[in-house]
Amino acid sequence: MSTSCIILIRYDEIGLKGKNRRFFENLLLDNIKYKLREIDDVRYQSPHGRIFIYADEATAEECARLLTFVPGIASLSVGVAMEPDASTIGEQGIRWIEPLLLDKGSLSFRVKTQRSDKSFPTPSPEFNHQVGSEILQKLSEKGLTVNLRQAEFTLEIEIGEKETVVFKDRVPCSGGLPVGSAGNVLTLLSGGIDSPVAAHMAIRRGCRSHYIFFDNQKFLGRGGYDKVLRLTKRLNAYQREARLYVVPFADIQVQIRDLCSPPHRVVLYRRAMYRIACALAREQSCLALVTGESLGQVASQTLENLAAVSCVVPISVFRPLIGMDKVEIIRKAKIIDTYPISIEPQPDCCSVFMPPRPATRSKIPALEKDEAKYPFAELEKAALEAAEVIACDEL
Ligand code: ATP
Ligand code: MG
Repeated sequence: MSTSCIILIRYDEIGLKGKNRRFFENLLLDNIKYKLREIDDVRYQSPHGRIFIYADEATAEECARLLTFVPGIASLSVGVAMEPDASTIGEQGIRWIEPLLLDKGSLSFRVKTQRSDKSFPTPSPEFNHQVGSEILQKLSEKGLTVNLRQAEFTLEIEIGEKETVVFKDRVPCSGGLPVGSAGNVLTLLSGGIDSPVAAHMAIRRGCRSHYIFFDNQKFLGRGGYDKVLRLTKRLNAYQREARLYVVPFADIQVQIRDLCSPPHRVVLYRRAMYRIACALAREQSCLALVTGESLGQVASQTLENLAAVSCVVPISVFRPLIGMDKVEIIRKAKIIDTYPISIEPQPDCCSVFMPPRPATRSKIPALEKDEAKYPFAELEKAALEAAEVIACDEL
């Protein structure tokens, strides 16, 4: 086996964790090992404040790609160990930079050396200059320039006592905290753009997110169900061991539609969803609900209506998108790659279940009066009993 590449993992936020730091580091390492479980011949080292991964040259780029999904990693660099010799390092730099240069037409670069081996005879600035000159000599005619402040590509050299490692440009990663460090939440996941982004934001803060989807296949077909399966599979790139609960919701929606006042319908659907989600969260040891609601986005998301749904559950309700507009949410959905699935057409329930004029400022006593008109407790029990449980790792 030729373990010729080294991947350096950096984690900013965990570094600030004081006495709990080891707990966060161990969890991160565990999540990293799980992510790379299918790649052969990978070794790990975790000295103070960093993680090193040793991988074969053929698999290192794939490891790096997979690691960009792991919450807790701030950035990573792929490097190779070599002799601390300016001309050999220069050749390596050329091998990395030349293809980028050909691709972009021009590129600025710099060399940054750190010496922990103080017996190394050449001072860092001089070594930067020596390596930089080797590279520039070969590539300046092809459009390579030097920029010491804001280079597009930084070649990093670490000269240590045991070995010298030369790193390619840093790859920015997800940041945040390792999944599992904050406990479990239950995300109300619809097939839309918003809720997958909300789930990802909770995952990025160390939560493991399970999901609940209220399904109305009877009236709307399998489209929503299929989308949600694929969304949870995609979100699974960021975590593991998540479960999706698919709760049949048609009977409840029909009763609300037929028995309650039309302007209240949307908030009543949402109150029913919250109650069922809360019951499931308690049973499954989830400490909060997460939704994709954002203030003012639609009629059901005014301050009054948000209060009217939150108040039915004695559990924290997190709305990570509350202050974001649609453009920002879409940008995030594209980054986490749930957007292409979310925008696939899906039959919506407007014509069948939505009232022409939904109330934007629902009053809680009036909602309660309306709710007394349909047998929620009975329907809730039946819905929970009929829920399908899907292990997202197996999708
Ligand atoms: P999204 O893009 O997430 O569908 P939206 O803008 O369409 O959001 P709404 O349909 O008002 O907003 O729903 C608000 C939130 O309520 C969703 O983000 C989701 O968390 C939850 N929700 C709505 N419908 C469902 C459903 N069928 N199953 C599970 N959760 C749902
Ligand atoms: Mg929706």
